[in-house]
Amino acid sequence: MTTFTDLGLKPEILQGITALGYEIPTPIQAKVIPQVLDNRSDIVGLAQTGTGKTAAFGLPLLQWTDTSLRTPTSLVLAPTRELCVQIAKDIESYAKYMGKLKVLPVYGGTSITNQIRDLRNGVHILVATPGRLIDLIERKAADLSAIEIVVMDEADEMLNMGFIDDINIILSSCPNDRTTMLFSATMPREIQRLANKYMNNPVEITAGDRNASTSQVEHHYYYIRERDRYLALKRIVDYYPGIYGIVFCKTKLDTQRIADKLMEEGYNAEPLHGDLSQQQRDRVMDKFRNKNVSLLVATDVAARGIDVDSLTHVINYNLPDESETYTHRSGRTGRAGKTGISLVLANIKERSKIRQIENVIKKKFEKKLIPEGSEICRVQLFNLIDKIEKTEAMDNDIEPFLPEIFARFESFSREDLIRKIVAEEFHRFLIYYQNSASLNVPEGSDRDSGRDSDRGDRRDRGSRGRDGDRGYDRGSDRGGDRGGDRGGDRDRGPRSGYKGGNDGDNFARVFINCGKMDDLNPQRLMGIVNDSGNGQRVQFGRIEILDKFSFFEIEKSTERMVLENLNKFEWKNRRIKAEPSEKRGRR
Ligand code: AMP
Repeated sequence: MTTFTDLGLKPEILQGITALGYEIPTPIQAKVIPQVLDNRSDIVGLAQTGTGKTAAFGLPLLQWTDTSLRTPTSLVLAPTRELCVQIAKDIESYAKYMGKLKVLPVYGGTSITNQIRDLRNGVHILVATPGRLIDLIERKAADLSAIEIVVMDEADEMLNMGFIDDINIILSSCPNDRTTMLFSATMPREIQRLANKYMNNPVEITAGDRNASTSQVEHHYYYIRERDRYLALKRIVDYYPGIYGIVFCKTKLDTQRIADKLMEEGYNAEPLHGDLSQQQRDRVMDKFRNKNVSLLVATDVAARGIDVDSLTHVINYNLPDESETYTHRSGRTGRAGKTGISLVLANIKERSKIRQIENVIKKKFEKKLIPEGSEICRVQLFNLIDKIEKTEAMDNDIEPFLPEIFARFESFSREDLIRKIVAEEFHRFLIYYQNSASLNVPEGSDRDSGRDSDRGDRRDRGSRGRDGDRGYDRGSDRGGDRGGDRGGDRDRGPRSGYKGGNDGDNFARVFINCGKMDDLNPQRLMGIVNDSGNGQRVQFGRIEILDKFSFFEIEKSTERMVLENLNKFEWKNRRIKAEPSEKRGRR
């Protein structure tokens, strides 16, 4: 077995990669590094992210770097800012023990002045997006005359993004006797043309099977009716409580729309697409990397530079136009020895596309059924129980409050208490999925109409106009048809309460001491609130009617008045008790 030492790398580089925990070279590293170091060959590498290709080109760059120079001798081109930053960071980490080696990422969407200054201060390895590099060349800030090695990473994507002219200019500005490496997940004809034009008898190296998908990834598909696409997404996400993944959409508009809907419903999601400012994209990526966001809703292009090893899922909300793009998407999971699931939501008409992708990835998709409401509730419930079981109570922090808490709970039996705690944490899922209909397309059905006459479920019928793929009407929940045990609430998603209501922070949540056992329903509750008041109209948000008590939301500005009035009010000879209730933080 080849080791890194066998590859002839300098001791300080070996020290750097050992510190990163790399023990043996990945197949692409074992193939590329000796070709470049020993033979100075040009390389065309067919490799996806996750194969270790960054070190495959990064380590030879370092081996050749002469830190006494001030102009760059290595140039890496990458399609996106994120990828540039990631590559520069990776190379810096391999070079940790190489002294004053300067790696500089330069990309658009941010001040060029600082980049010009950094370039003037001396750079050894320049990592650039093509557009920004052209800008820097035109301003005479980037000097490519000493470049000895050029790497084009994710070349197919750079071409997809229309960088071909820029690449032509850049490559023509580099010395002819340079070494050139090109890496691409796919090998369309344009890449071959680029290789023929700018490379000298390149050695073609493939990491794993040509276009084959990583073996660590399971591929699942779900047949859906087009109108149920979004609902199906929510069900799947709800079915995997620890989900940490990317939801791929086709267009920027879709990406924003799906992310908005998920966020409105309290899901821990954020959009990532090219219409966001660079600052916004950075912020989203930081949150995603730190796992403060669990679902990234992204376009293919924006997700290019994402280097996150622990994704549990890649969700193809829409199938990509090119089967190769699927390979790219699914390669985002199942990385660094971990397993992952790449799943596809496909309508009946997209069946043949699935077969095409199977041919490209050389793997079969597993057909899965969209989880039923009861299954989701079960999974979520036991996830909650698991969490409670594993929670380590910090004695010191709660100790001072315990006597009072024990006193408050004295009258409850153990069973009652458990029931209450679980209900409080969990009732939203139960309410949302109560009586929910199956979203699965019956076997043999070829229909994918928008009609819902075959559906008996109140939630799904109610939701179609709002949650279906035909747009989303935020205001539509404001009518009388709302409430915890009614379709309106379920339309908002099981997690809505976590975020804080229909209109986000404009609503305050109130506890009231009556529930179903008192024959309370949403209309009656609204009646009580209105009757107790002095005629001022109150805007309601979500209403959740539970057995012995209920919660409702009202516009924040009216909260104090409503609480004061209600606490003076009697209903069915019973003194009403109402108090502010904490809104849940987002997961
Ligand atoms: P890449 O394909 O360059 O994005 O690398 C994918 C992941 O594999 C990154 O997290 C690297 O840090 C890791 N990696 C790369 N080479 C090795 C290696 N030889 N041993 C262990 N991990 C590696």
